[in-house]
Amino acid sequence: MKTDRSEVGVAKVHGRCRVCGGTGLVRYLDLGVTPLANSYLSPEQLAKPEPVAELALQICDACGLSQLTRVVDRDLMFRNYLYVSSTTQTFRDHCAELAATAMRVGGAAAGDWALDIASNDGLLLSCFSGLGMRVFGVDPARNLATEATARGIPTIPEYWSPAVARDAVARHGRPRVVTATNVLAHVDDVHEFIQAVGLALAPQGILVIEVPYVLDFIRRNEFDTAYHEHLSYFGLHPLAELMRMHGLVIFDVERFAEIHGGTIRVFACRVGERTPSDRMIAMLDHEREFGITNTDVYLGFGERVRANMAQLSDLIERFRSEGRRIWAYGASAKGNTLMNFSGTTAEAVPVVVDDNPKKWGLYTPGAHMKIVGPNELAHGAVDHLLLLAWNFEREIVQRSRAAGYRGSYIRPVPAVAVFD
Ligand SMILES: [Zn+2]
Repeated sequence: MKTDRSEVGVAKVHGRCRVCGGTGLVRYLDLGVTPLANSYLSPEQLAKPEPVAELALQICDACGLSQLTRVVDRDLMFRNYLYVSSTTQTFRDHCAELAATAMRVGGAAAGDWALDIASNDGLLLSCFSGLGMRVFGVDPARNLATEATARGIPTIPEYWSPAVARDAVARHGRPRVVTATNVLAHVDDVHEFIQAVGLALAPQGILVIEVPYVLDFIRRNEFDTAYHEHLSYFGLHPLAELMRMHGLVIFDVERFAEIHGGTIRVFACRVGERTPSDRMIAMLDHEREFGITNTDVYLGFGERVRANMAQLSDLIERFRSEGRRIWAYGASAKGNTLMNFSGTTAEAVPVVVDDNPKKWGLYTPGAHMKIVGPNELAHGAVDHLLLLAWNFEREIVQRSRAAGYRGSYIRPVPAVAVFD
């Protein structure tokens, strides 16, 4: 970490609940002042100060929304985005299933419009297109929007907003299906975002949102899915409250335990169009029993996370003292949070393997690990591989073995484990 630790010009203090406006925010996990997780560095940038901001979590005791204490300037994070969603097979399968489900539940026919908000490289929209729907996307990452448009997925290179919604409707008509996967948790003004959906959506249309699920975050010690982009940690309660404020209602929900460490898929429509499902009502009850607004639940989580990281630091220190060679796998945002919070640097873990060629040759923020492709594993003489993208453990084990890796693996969360 470099000497300039100023947050000025990078982040603003977040002091009122993003959903309900409440001021009863209780801080429960402090991950330190850390570099922005997706700001990968070129060799020339290594010597320069990195933009940093506080990374800490607080819970609203009124609506149960977990949220960061800071909001980083979004242009620093999203205008040139390196996370390409189509890199993993798990996620490609998930998108194909989502497109088919959304079309069926939304009663959409071939020729109807599907809109994907934060459409990334257009993977989900290409699934809708394959099912006969007309598609358009919106994504602020100009690099990805340009690539997607060139591949036949028209993509507006902007943040989703009422102005963009009006423009999109004028150009394309009202979408029967609107999807927003892994974006709402990254949005500061969630009211503007949902209001804009209300402006665009066809009268009988549906909105499908996927967000990481806060109950999984807490129960599985997934603290490393906290990074500056990830502003909110949603449960069904705060989401339902948010929809209600904009004339929408959640009528169904599904859980995916294995996607991004636990994800919920929420289906919403205009008030009065559909009846809430039994599983939706059951999940609301379940969250009440869990204590979604009970601050003690979150403070206990903070304690567990600190113990977990102390365990990891000790293990890495022991392996190093025994002369073992450790690399990591997965140059992910969660990996950067984990490295920074556990105090692990490139001295202990000099190299991180990643499947995305756009990252090769760059360095991770904070820890400054060099990013290389999986083929480097064959001649690295590595003893242990620290799984930073633990949500893709099975794929990573397969890929690294296929690349000739013969050592063991370190799973860092929810508890430290070493396996072959
Ligand atoms: Zn609140």
